[in-house]
Amino acid sequence: MGEILDRSLATLTSIQLPVYRGQYLLMQVWQSQISPNSWHPAPCSNFRRYPVAQPADAPYRDRVARIRDRDACPGALQVHQAADGALARVRLPGGVISPGQLEALAHAATKFGSPAMELTSRGNIQLRALTDTVGVAEIAAAAGLLPSQTHERVRNIVASPLSGRVGGMTDIRGLVAELDEAIQTEPALAELPGRFIFGVDDGRADVSGLAADAGAHFLYEATAALLLAGRDTGVRLDRADVVPALIAVATRFAATRGKAWRIAELTDTTPLLGQFTPSAEHGATWPPISRPPVGWLPQDDGRITLGAAVPLGVLQARVAEFLAAIGAPLAITPWRSVLVFDLDEGVADTALRVLAPLGLVFDGNSPWLSVSACTGSPGCEHSAADVRADAAAALDDPADGHRHFVGCDRACGSPPTGDVLVATGDGYRLRTPHP
Ligand code: SF4
Repeated sequence: MGEILDRSLATLTSIQLPVYRGQYLLMQVWQSQISPNSWHPAPCSNFRRYPVAQPADAPYRDRVARIRDRDACPGALQVHQAADGALARVRLPGGVISPGQLEALAHAATKFGSPAMELTSRGNIQLRALTDTVGVAEIAAAAGLLPSQTHERVRNIVASPLSGRVGGMTDIRGLVAELDEAIQTEPALAELPGRFIFGVDDGRADVSGLAADAGAHFLYEATAALLLAGRDTGVRLDRADVVPALIAVATRFAATRGKAWRIAELTDTTPLLGQFTPSAEHGATWPPISRPPVGWLPQDDGRITLGAAVPLGVLQARVAEFLAAIGAPLAITPWRSVLVFDLDEGVADTALRVLAPLGLVFDGNSPWLSVSACTGSPGCEHSAADVRADAAAALDDPADGHRHFVGCDRACGSPPTGDVLVATGDGYRLRTPHP
């Protein structure tokens, strides 16, 4: 692996990319050469449906073509038809992805669509401008990214991505895998809305502020608080009861939700607790975190994690291939960044020198960490501006706090904190209240 990165570094010595706004412009040029209309919204709504053409003999044809009446949140099989073609979202519970899986998605993106892969605020990856959704599904399945056809859209788990490696109250990696397995084996959960999300916080309070629908926040190594919509219910769970409790809450929600998509939409969440009785003060919440862990992160075992912010959440397939070439475990975070784990210092140093010139951000003070944007024009027909270009331009005009640029009041991808700026066609206005 070191040789691969060293060769890559040698190749890159002649490439001096301009920084910040220039990086964004380079991305635009790169993408426009391949798919002129490839920057489009990340839909999770029920306002539009389109048929998707598939090859007649495709093994995933039935699943891909099965369209739910009301829940249009896309998956790897139930794709969304955007203006630039089909969009597929691949769930990564806990953001976990192996080098081979990332390489497979990069290959699928390059072969069947736009090479600009999008990282989502739930730690998933979506591919767009797809010309062969069955081909993408087959690649995802072969890489082990599609373990359940019936539950593929509901494997939504955000979890403390550094758990077990850097700090935290306890190591939750096994719990996340156990939860994912339990979700897939509960038939009733196939009917959960695609936007319902589970959360597991290892006690460092990094993901509980994201207000997952059903969450566990560890207070001690073997005791967790049960959260509903990010709020402490007062129920305390032994570690062994965490997964059964989260599954029970989700199952009750699926059975009783009516027209609610999220638990936060319910007026009374008490029935979701079932047999669980509060034993502590309820009502506590955790402040949302909006910045990813970036840079050189020493692990508890002496090895290194590299945290790489991805400008505007757009990860080019070519860059993903470099990440995969490291051959180390990876995670996509809810802050649209990438973590590369378990590196010795020499490999981490070489990887950093290769990846930084490719546009990944390892500086915690970078202004890229303070701006984000929806897809906007020309990708989204609803947008009043090229908001990604404007977000990049805003780097030249720093401001306090995070700024999220959107093309219309739907405010897609808005982070839980900071200013949401809505394009008017003649500038931007501050959106109030915050979505
Ligand atoms: S323009 Fe509106 S609908 Fe389109 S991606 Fe942005 S916020 Fe979403």
